[in-house]
Amino acid sequence: MRKFLLDGAEHYLVVDIDTLRTEILSADHIILTSSIHDSKLGASMKNISPYFGAIAFCALPPYRLHNHGIRGFSQKLKGAVLSADLCPSKYPLDRTPFQLALATFSEKTRPLPVAIAVSGKWLESHIRDINWLKSMHEKKMLDITWINHSYSHPREYRRNKRLLSKGFLLAEGTDINAEIIKAEISMIEAGITPSVFFRFPGLVSDEKLVKKVCELGLIPVGSNAWLAKRERPRGGSIILIHANRHEPKGIAGFRKLLYEKKNAIRQGTWRLLDIRDCLVSDFTLNAGREYRVRPKTAIN
Ligand SMILES: [Zn+2]
Repeated sequence: MRKFLLDGAEHYLVVDIDTLRTEILSADHIILTSSIHDSKLGASMKNISPYFGAIAFCALPPYRLHNHGIRGFSQKLKGAVLSADLCPSKYPLDRTPFQLALATFSEKTRPLPVAIAVSGKWLESHIRDINWLKSMHEKKMLDITWINHSYSHPREYRRNKRLLSKGFLLAEGTDINAEIIKAEISMIEAGITPSVFFRFPGLVSDEKLVKKVCELGLIPVGSNAWLAKRERPRGGSIILIHANRHEPKGIAGFRKLLYEKKNAIRQGTWRLLDIRDCLVSDFTLNAGREYRVRPKTAIN
């Protein structure tokens, strides 16, 4: 996906196109045969790999102003994906959702998969928190999929009225390429590995932004269960909460959800799911013919 210098030596960010796992490897460990930007390769892989299939699916219209991309998976899945956003904040990380999940699910389910959408600015001012999250990952308590949430995470537009079409990354003067790449640099410098996913700040995007994200080999990920907005998760949902202390309602909603699901959790019939595995299983279900993860009913 990327080639860069790390401590003066050439490195690559690589993705396994069948499992969506990413890794940072030094150039000595790599034999380069082709590039993902080779369109012929992309076209032929589209129908046979979950990675290219998902990018091809997300790059297509309609381009929704809000919540474009993958919002959920097959309803047959027994559980949901937990995603937590870390938009820039002066407050420390809210560890509550992670601690609640670890206290609720049995030890057998560890590491618990969680997806964390992190902005570059949050990373740069929360070294202790990032070290805690890294230690939870290393101790195999959590299995974190790091989602790029842009570098500066421009705010929503509120001058006269709230206008989605002028806010967040759609704000005038935004350099989308820099927003994506600088966030990746912050992640790598913080010692974490970027995944193949990108979450738009405010979940707001347009055709140009979507195409740029897809062109850079990233898969836009939205949500169909934003808990603070009282959206109820179903099987295969992507739950959205904020772990930056800006949205306590969402944390309360997550606590309530775990309480409601406590019997199913005990019986092992409701689990936290890995976003990468969900995407792979949906792709396999659809036999790679046509990628369908878009829920039938539009949300928001
Ligand atoms: Zn955000």
